[in-house]
Amino acid sequence: MIEQKDLLVSGLGDPVHPSPLCFESAKRHGGRHFVSESERVRLDITEGGGRAVQTPLTLEEAGPRERLFFDPRATTAAIVTCGGLSPGLNNVIRSVFYELSENYGVPKVLGIRNGYRGLNPAVGKRPILLNRELVEPIDKLGGTALGSSRGPQDPRVMADFIEAQAIDILFCLGGDGTQRGAHDLHKELQRREAKVAIVGIPKTIDNDISFVHQSFGFATALDKAHEVIQAAHVEARDAVNGIGLVKLMGRHAGFIAAGASVVSQEVNFTLVPEIPFPLEGKGGFLESLEDRVRRRGHAVVVVAEGAGQHLFEGKAGERDASGNLQHEDIGTYLRDRIKAHFAEREFEMTLKYLDPSYFIRSVPANGFDRFVCDQMGRHAVHAGMAGKTGVMIGMEHGHYINVPIPAVVSRTKTLDVGGDLWRGVLQVTRQPRW
Ligand code: ATP
Ligand code: MG
Repeated sequence: MIEQKDLLVSGLGDPVHPSPLCFESAKRHGGRHFVSESERVRLDITEGGGRAVQTPLTLEEAGPRERLFFDPRATTAAIVTCGGLSPGLNNVIRSVFYELSENYGVPKVLGIRNGYRGLNPAVGKRPILLNRELVEPIDKLGGTALGSSRGPQDPRVMADFIEAQAIDILFCLGGDGTQRGAHDLHKELQRREAKVAIVGIPKTIDNDISFVHQSFGFATALDKAHEVIQAAHVEARDAVNGIGLVKLMGRHAGFIAAGASVVSQEVNFTLVPEIPFPLEGKGGFLESLEDRVRRRGHAVVVVAEGAGQHLFEGKAGERDASGNLQHEDIGTYLRDRIKAHFAEREFEMTLKYLDPSYFIRSVPANGFDRFVCDQMGRHAVHAGMAGKTGVMIGMEHGHYINVPIPAVVSRTKTLDVGGDLWRGVLQVTRQPRW
């Protein structure tokens, strides 16, 4: 259970430097752009319906502060990208760079190469000094211009490097693992009493980081997944008893599978990690699929990569370089089980299996995600310049927020199976209520 005290953001010290950002014209027109330390965003904004009444938790509103901890003209900042790819990484790098250099006037912004590895000098990947010529075109490309990696680095080694390079603010762009790594680094720097701000920017194409209503890359993933589902639907419809089976991303949460099913309106079964569906027996997935194909002559199935793991219970999973448990491949497993099920019944059918994950992860961000990237990047800069540390930029109820990293990683975000999105999936697919 998170308490209000867990949502208190750490600061490096008194902000004494005036911000160079100028919002005078907004003031003239009755607006205001600087955000004061006392502005808060309520976490839970709904009430009634038998919900327990609690004192609402509030989070610090992100945004530019009138006074800064760092003197912009004497600041060195660095950006690192870690973990798997997601559309929009380059857009965030670009917005962080431009906000720092153009708007705050920070003279030196370093690009750390290949994730946390680039903070270990023994690896031999020197940081790149970012400049306009390098950064200007990167938003048109997918991937990350800085490179990424998985696997641990010693926080003491990374802190030594940060101190040796006189880095004042480090922006850590990555998923849950990256944020945990950022927190370890923050603790190590705090132990040394080093005045370095560590600011996390959440990257999750799966949309599974808490305190982030919708992460960048997610909308692009829905667009791309929609294209793949359309292809699966055409293949299924035009074959004799065709089945299109699409595996989408979603290791712990079924947001992409659910969202893409609603976007496409052509899916008949959506399988997500949150609902351990029965495979066999009456009313199970295989029988329901058979029934649908008998009635309509074709079917489209979307499965999230983390779905159906209960079917593999007892199997010791492998781990990747960062220690993440690797899922059993539910896509190929279902493909084989569906084929076997129909073969046993001598029921002719044609199955097309599509696994587009790398195609989706590596594309450039769409318009909506480009917008989110820009906001995330610029809010991260505001937090860093104000001397906030051990903090990640979140977004709830349309407001950007500063969230302490331990609060972020203490919770997992999964589909609310009683919420609008999952209800929408059930209404679109009309699949059994497992
Ligand atoms: P995603 O899983 O979405 O691709 P991620 O940020 O979770 O992104 P990881 O490969 O798990 O990706 O982690 C990225 C970096 O963070 C790696 O260098 C990894 O060693 C480090 N890291 C992961 N988990 C931890 C942890 N618990 N504590 C410290 N560092 C971690
Ligand atoms: Mg992760």
